[in-house]
Amino acid sequence: MSGRLVPIFEAAVAGDRRMMARAISLIEARVEGVLEGLEGLRARRSDAPGAPQVIGITGPPGAGKSTIVDRLVSVARRDDRRVAVVAVDPSSPFSGGAILGDRVRMDRHAGDLGVFIRSLSSRGHLGGLSRATGQVVDLFDAAGFDLVVVETVGVGQSELAVCEVADTAVVVLTPESGDTVQTMKAGLLEIADLFVVNKADRPGADRLVRDLQLAVELDQARWAAPVLPASALEGRGVAEVVEAAAAHLRWCRVDGRGTWDERRARGRVHTWLDLVGASARADALAALPADTLDDLRAGRISPYGLARP
Ligand code: GDP
Repeated sequence: MSGRLVPIFEAAVAGDRRMMARAISLIEARVEGVLEGLEGLRARRSDAPGAPQVIGITGPPGAGKSTIVDRLVSVARRDDRRVAVVAVDPSSPFSGGAILGDRVRMDRHAGDLGVFIRSLSSRGHLGGLSRATGQVVDLFDAAGFDLVVVETVGVGQSELAVCEVADTAVVVLTPESGDTVQTMKAGLLEIADLFVVNKADRPGADRLVRDLQLAVELDQARWAAPVLPASALEGRGVAEVVEAAAAHLRWCRVDGRGTWDERRARGRVHTWLDLVGASARADALAALPADTLDDLRAGRISPYGLARP
């Protein structure tokens, strides 16, 4: 049965949307044979220029991420760029989850063949989320999309890890989402290549912009993350986000003294480690005698003792 899924992946990257949807479902379900399907794909991200740009968008629930993504897609389409969106969030409007009513927003792109939108459920992924997301991004890359957007709720470590698959991590905050100190505590300052203060139509936005700018300057990172006000609802500031993300990518590739190569190199090692880690864990679980597993589950033996070599 080896290689049986390869034709599905080949058709997906050749532009068959139904096969693209199927390939993503196979990745999500971690079906055996997916790795062979992915192995044969040609990644374009390494050979800039002409490679797609991957933008990660994270931030607290309700910050306006989906609204921004919707606008981002429109901006990119105006330049005739092909866009793929992967939304990682159980309550995402793309997922058909809790907030079905919100789906209306993305409906405007529904009939557009230059747009492919897909959600990944974060339920039942147990830390494998970044792996699945990375694989889907690689698939979109090989399929020739010009822009790939990864949207995720920035509430935990695994969500932040999702941002690592992106070239540019955009952190969306609002005047209501707390002060700069909280942002720093949540680790968002380290991961942000770009801050968006959304809902700039509301009071307090200017102040948050100033505070964040100060924090970014103090941080003395090699790249000083721009802080951009926006009102996604009114469609203001989103084109600037696209421009700033492009500037960041240029910096990584050209001015960042090896930043781009280093990111890609780390990404490749990370992907491999993630995959060996997953298969090693699956092997370890399969090799564990059933009564030992029962003992572990019941607390009769310690996970520490069991893990000791
Ligand atoms: P997400 O959970 O981060 O994806 O947030 P959504 O995009 O679903 O937006 C949450 C709510 O904020 C929705 O009711 C939006 O209409 C609203 N919203 C989004 N952007 C803005 C904005 O710029 N200004 C205002 N006032 N509301 C916004």
